Amino acid sequence: MIQSINPIPAFDIKQQYASIEAEVSTAVLEILASGRYIGGLPVESFEQQFAAYHGVSNCVACNSGTDALFLALRALEIGAGDEVITTPFTFVATAEVISAVGAKPVFVDIDATTFNIDLQQVAAAITPQTKAIIPVHLFGQPVDMTALMAIAQNHNLAVIEDCAQSTGAKWGTQKVGSIGHIGCFSFYPTKNLGACGDGGAITTNDPAIAAKVRILKEHGQKHRYQYEKIGVNSRLDAIQAAILLIKLRYLDTWNQQRQAIASYYQRFLSQIPGIIPPQELAGSTSVWNQYTIRVLTEGRNGTSAAYREEIRNSLQAKQVGSMVYYPYPLHLQPVYQHLGYQPGQLPVAEQAGNEVLSLPMFPELTTQQQDQVIYALKDSVL
Ligand SMILES: *Cc1c(COP(=O)(O)O)cnc(C)c1O
Repeated sequence: MIQSINPIPAFDIKQQYASIEAEVSTAVLEILASGRYIGGLPVESFEQQFAAYHGVSNCVACNSGTDALFLALRALEIGAGDEVITTPFTFVATAEVISAVGAKPVFVDIDATTFNIDLQQVAAAITPQTKAIIPVHLFGQPVDMTALMAIAQNHNLAVIEDCAQSTGAKWGTQKVGSIGHIGCFSFYPTKNLGACGDGGAITTNDPAIAAKVRILKEHGQKHRYQYEKIGVNSRLDAIQAAILLIKLRYLDTWNQQRQAIASYYQRFLSQIPGIIPPQELAGSTSVWNQYTIRVLTEGRNGTSAAYREEIRNSLQAKQVGSMVYYPYPLHLQPVYQHLGYQPGQLPVAEQAGNEVLSLPMFPELTTQQQDQVIYALKDSVL
């Protein structure tokens, strides 16, 4: 039994900063001294390098992952009267932007193994109003993009990949965000490539889409002080771009560290009865933004969510942090009541909401800490 009682947080971004502090602070101080805080070389270089990293011809940086998704929908001219298919088991932003452009989100249930949209059920949700699909590569695990692109092509639909949790993940040999028509990324601090504040970007091989996003993110301005569209102000700050340029060089190493941790967890957690560890889909490379297990609740008294809460409390007592992403699927949220979904309608997502538990996952997690997590979990579920 491991005796260490140092608390293990669910995530820790301070350690990562400490490992690159000298580089980052030099770059930030340079920008502060330059007086050029908006746009300029750091933003241009970041866009070029992020596009090159994905093997696509265009990247446009913006203020957040939410804005990236919003701008993608606007660039595709999706709005009132249109439907967009997505998953109910995601961060609210994915669906929120569909509503924000005036379109209607159509939720399709998820696959119990990957927590991603169930592609078997997508075709049945397509109507003459459907314009696009937003797959979410949740927790770092890619959606089967071969199957998804085939459905989209058959029905002439646009594909906007929500890559907020999956920067660097691959479907086959291709990075997510380079397969659909548009890839949307978030640089929120806890994402795999995290800024020291907000940030986002879109990637695309279509120069016309990139040009449209560029106009929309700058108040709809095509030429200086001439406005073509109702746009928004959505910029990646120069300071954030400079920080992301440094971090992009470490991203693959950090993702490999996450992969090693996931394999180690898998080896030991698969032997604990009562839980199901996550499985990587064949042909994919997950980047494990989260390591999310399922706590089995069959045959137990009370609600599954209450049992999961007991396990969380027990882990906490053993100094192991954990998180629940996401307790309530979007189709049953008050804000989407008008869409008329009923409890039980998307049962896999609803059950996942009661059973998921995300364990500590960050590149700097040591083997000893992983052992502590594994032992704590073993003690908590038996
Ligand atoms: C984080 C996240 C977003 C939104 O990104 P922000 O940068 O916080 O706006 C969108 N979708 C998913 C799946 C996310 O995890």
